[in-house]
Amino acid sequence: MSDLSKIKGLGPKTLEILSNIGINTIDDLVNYYPYRHDIIVLNDIKEAKNQDKVTIECIVDSVPLTRRFKANMTSLTFRAMSSKKMIAVVIFNRAFLKTHIKPGAVITVIGKYDALRNTVVASDIKFEKLLTGSIESIYHLTSGLTSKSLKKYINEALLVYDDYIDYIPDYLNKKYNFIDKKSAVKMIHEPKNEDEVKQAMVKLKYEELFKFMFKINYLKEINKENKTGYIRNIDPSDVDDFIRMLPFELTVDQDKAIEEIYKDMTSSKRMNRMLQGDVGSGKTIVAVIASYINYLSKNQTALMAPTEVLATQHYESIKGLLENTNMRVGLLVGSMKKKDKDEVVEKLKNGKIDLIIGTHALLSENVIFKNLGLVITDEQHRFGVNQRANLKNKGLLPDILYMSATPIPRTFALTIYGDMDISNIKTKPKGRREIKTIIKSEKELVSVYELMKKEIENSHQIYIVSPLIEESDTIDLTTVNEIKRNIELYFQGQVKSSIMHGKLSRNDKEKIMNEFKEGKTNVLISTTVIEVGIDVKNATMIVIYDAERFGLATLHQLRGRVGRNEFESTCVLIGNEDCERLRVLQESNDGFYITEKDYEMRGEGDLFGVKQSGDMEFKIANLHQDMKILLQAKADSKDFLDENIKNNFENYIEYAKIINELTNLD
Ligand code: ADP
Ligand code: MG
Repeated sequence: MSDLSKIKGLGPKTLEILSNIGINTIDDLVNYYPYRHDIIVLNDIKEAKNQDKVTIECIVDSVPLTRRFKANMTSLTFRAMSSKKMIAVVIFNRAFLKTHIKPGAVITVIGKYDALRNTVVASDIKFEKLLTGSIESIYHLTSGLTSKSLKKYINEALLVYDDYIDYIPDYLNKKYNFIDKKSAVKMIHEPKNEDEVKQAMVKLKYEELFKFMFKINYLKEINKENKTGYIRNIDPSDVDDFIRMLPFELTVDQDKAIEEIYKDMTSSKRMNRMLQGDVGSGKTIVAVIASYINYLSKNQTALMAPTEVLATQHYESIKGLLENTNMRVGLLVGSMKKKDKDEVVEKLKNGKIDLIIGTHALLSENVIFKNLGLVITDEQHRFGVNQRANLKNKGLLPDILYMSATPIPRTFALTIYGDMDISNIKTKPKGRREIKTIIKSEKELVSVYELMKKEIENSHQIYIVSPLIEESDTIDLTTVNEIKRNIELYFQGQVKSSIMHGKLSRNDKEKIMNEFKEGKTNVLISTTVIEVGIDVKNATMIVIYDAERFGLATLHQLRGRVGRNEFESTCVLIGNEDCERLRVLQESNDGFYITEKDYEMRGEGDLFGVKQSGDMEFKIANLHQDMKILLQAKADSKDFLDENIKNNFENYIEYAKIINELTNLD
């Protein structure tokens, strides 16, 4: 099936490994770009001082020795000769390299020189000779795949491949003096010098951003024209009555957002709106009111959350909010019993459910709606501009509302969400307090326990979060078990704790969650950061172990689990006091500010809090660093679009295809 078979030396095992990193065709392989280029400067180990970074060529002199320590750390140590000097080399957590390190082999070691031990602590080992001045392409690898073999496959592929598509129109290629696509791809993989890297980068980045902005601009264009929205003839006082019934008064921004949504939903324009608001700012109720508006016009709503736990929680709380209405609410998640699922599916088909809550899989499952009028997506930073193509229900054009707790800077939002309208909730519900944030080192754990003790004595509850290495099917629970043991030891029967992790069954997760909600347990130790939307009002403290390993956006989200009541809440970050990211959190509780900071500090990477997917995942462009190219591509693609809409892209068949993809609802 795969034309990868044209590549020499690719057996079924390697094909599987490549497939793990998304390489399934020769096309994928050719377009698997390096994420970095290093200029090689070889050092002489005799001249290296203590703690110098070095790149040295050596000859392996002994078989490596493997050590195992801590929970799952390994090290390989071996002797090597470099510039006629004998040294030791150690490399951590790369046990799989062992078979490649053979006495007599010439290798290149990159790492730090520890003069006291005459040892190089390697960050990387290359099984090839490198020359000073040459450029080394660095790829994301995976276990079982060395950089040497990946390069060999790519090199082979470049020799046989010739299906290059250049998405940049000719006149723009000329205008910017871009090199042709084929050369660019070759140069990005195998550049002869720095200039080639630059030329290839700018070409490929521009191309990627041009294509992306083209889609955004196109969607904006059809939205402008689009009069396919449901025009709902409803009595606004019915909505007001519902709002008056709610257990609290809406904040100013909630009110404003609802007004904007109401306008969208009662006009002929199809709603395509992003609702941005910090954790705890109260987006859910806005979504509920939107679904009520939709219900008043006798249409069904689908509300999707990222995890089953969140979906279930939404279901429980929303059911409560709708108690005094005639709206019928249903839950549909993957792990429900088949019989129950079938029943829900049947009801949806017959219009006997007005609001269905589920995970993001809801729309792709074989669900038929009687009259779907509104789709709401929670905690998702928009999964690609193609998302609406997921609607399996032919011919349906529901209004769309996205909700995101990771606001992004304004200029940026205008560009990448260019085809959407945006509502912001900046005001917080009344009585919300700032969450006190403190940083503690691991040595100060006892003082953290003391803080916990106070909360426990006041009958409050505590979350503990610990990052976890999850390797495919198995997970290592050593750390959380250790935390649980230590806490139980320290508190001597004063606490009841439980452990929550990603691999538990839905029933177990639900049970653990409910026990915590009902206060049967008072400490919830969680290994997973997925369950970010959880709402337990009595929780006043969150302790995050290894905080530096989480992104800013994630930490802020996690912190938002507490401070949901009238008491003072505390977030303890265990990590290094000097870590700038942790300090930002200590400084501020404002999600908009934190995202700006995040944006400044690390660029696009973690900006969206979750790994980007769909069309937001760029191969080579970096939204932060390449803002200038992005803005240029935005303007150029707009001109290109305007010019070619008239003649149906007849000279640009590739763009006709893209448009087809964007508008095809099958
Ligand atoms: P998020 O924006 O993070 O999804 P939620 O919608 O979960 O936030 O709201 C957080 C909590 O605040 C919920 O318990 C909700 O009931 C409460 N809440 C929402 N709006 C208000 C308000 N206007 N006044 C008081 N409490 C509110
Ligand atoms: Mg929410």
